[in-house]
Amino acid sequence: MGSTKINIIKLFLSNFLYFSGFNLIARKVIFKNARYVLMFHGVSSKKSKNISNSAQPHLDVSQFESVVIWLKNNFNILDPNELINSSKPGILFTFDDGFQNNYTNVLPILEKYNIPGLFFITTQHVLDSKKWLHFVNDSLMDEWNATEKISEDIQNDYYDGINSEMLVKMSENPLVTIGSHTVTHPFLSQCEIKNIDYELGSSKEYLEKITNKTIKYLAYPSGDYDEKVIEIAKKKGYIAGFGIDRTNGIGFPNFEIPRVGIYYSNISYIATKLNGLINPSIKGSYLKIG
Ligand SMILES: [Zn+2]
Repeated sequence: MGSTKINIIKLFLSNFLYFSGFNLIARKVIFKNARYVLMFHGVSSKKSKNISNSAQPHLDVSQFESVVIWLKNNFNILDPNELINSSKPGILFTFDDGFQNNYTNVLPILEKYNIPGLFFITTQHVLDSKKWLHFVNDSLMDEWNATEKISEDIQNDYYDGINSEMLVKMSENPLVTIGSHTVTHPFLSQCEIKNIDYELGSSKEYLEKITNKTIKYLAYPSGDYDEKVIEIAKKKGYIAGFGIDRTNGIGFPNFEIPRVGIYYSNISYIATKLNGLINPSIKGSYLKIG
């Protein structure tokens, strides 16, 4: 397939850039003031050889740990407040969707290396941990074919939502900030106003009720937003909205924060994504809340 070929070329190029020392020079000299928000998703306990890569979480916990070690050795680590209210260089860790493995697999690693994390929760996951996100179901229908063949333990480890007890415990951890990733993970720009209102408002209220904290941050599912989504987010009291790599440039920098998705554990791939050429760094003065 064409995309496999493209991936091989990308991997070759990133290996070349990495081993030729270009990324190191880029990071240390040219882009030492770079600021990035990284986007992770679920992290499994262990990769399964019997399940195609596209039907399981991008990283398992040992891969995640090696990525964390490399990032910590090469970048300053920011918390959400430092990203928004200072111009300190560095990276912020974010995690989308509210998988249970964020509590069981990710949090222990963040604690071990003292790394703040911003977790965007899709609240239907908390209300019913077996009600998987629609794109997870789609991918499983294509790839797993017969989900009953996959053990309950693996299904749980890969795709179950976080339950409310775990979420409360997580939110009490000083390293953790909880944000909203809507109720049902829709394409927000395609929703009617009343549905955007519900997705942004009800998720925020629910998370505030069970964590007893103000929910200030929102991540748009699939990075999909437009001006009306931003207007409603502001009205609901969010102070920042996170997209993915391509933002729409509508003119509200705080509500159009780009993120760099981490889909592989290969260090040369990650170094290339953060060398400043592929993904522009977030400007220091870009986000300040006036
Ligand atoms: Zn998502």
